[in-house]
Amino acid sequence: MRLILRIALLSVFTVAALSAHAQLEKLFAPYDCRVHSELTIDEPITDTLSIVSTQALAIEEPELTIVMDTVNAWQNWRTIKNYTFGKDRGDMPMIVELDALHPYFRDKITQLIKTCKGQGIELAVVESYRTHAKQHEYKSMGSKYTRSGAGKSKHQYGLAVDLVPIVDSVAVWDNIALWKKIGVTGEKLGLRWGGRWKKPYDPGHFEWTGGVTTAQLSKGLQPNISKDLYPCMEEDLRILQRYWKEWELSQSSFARK
Ligand SMILES: [Zn+2]
Repeated sequence: MRLILRIALLSVFTVAALSAHAQLEKLFAPYDCRVHSELTIDEPITDTLSIVSTQALAIEEPELTIVMDTVNAWQNWRTIKNYTFGKDRGDMPMIVELDALHPYFRDKITQLIKTCKGQGIELAVVESYRTHAKQHEYKSMGSKYTRSGAGKSKHQYGLAVDLVPIVDSVAVWDNIALWKKIGVTGEKLGLRWGGRWKKPYDPGHFEWTGGVTTAQLSKGLQPNISKDLYPCMEEDLRILQRYWKEWELSQSSFARK
């Protein structure tokens, strides 16, 4: 009897997993066709599947189908709350997920973080992609935060990031020599560093647009990236833009609360 139940549950699980996977594949192309281990997830993807898989797993561990979540991944983007790194950044949570960035820029920032780590500098992400609603909040907080209104920041196109060095578990905002090291490392990677700016001096800020202006970005123009290096860029951006829209909706409702 127990054996029959086991077989039944396992076959239900397999069928559910296969059909869910097939359905997902049919609807959405992979988020990024290059192999990115950080983009694969092994979580169950439908309610039915999660119920069945929990029961099946309790008996015996079947092989889980690894799928790329191109539907709800935005919901799992990591965020931080105000004052996480000791500064007032407003009430709306900040998205700190690197996958929320334009894929080319994301890879550059990953490289920057790795290179700095090699130099003994630990960096934390303070903010990656930023919604219009969040940008609007900064704008309302004064020119110390930003001079750019909604739609005017590179953060809103996934082409800017704010970082901070962490020393002994504490965010260090005022070590100019340390900032310089990080800034120069970023510049060597071809990034624009906010530590060169005067108003506001923004040493944690890095951006890249490949020569495209914010006005052009707001009209939908994208930096030109080699198809050899990023063959799925168009599809990746389409999925990203859908995620950004979802975040916009969710943060706009946050703003109304
Ligand atoms: Zn910034």
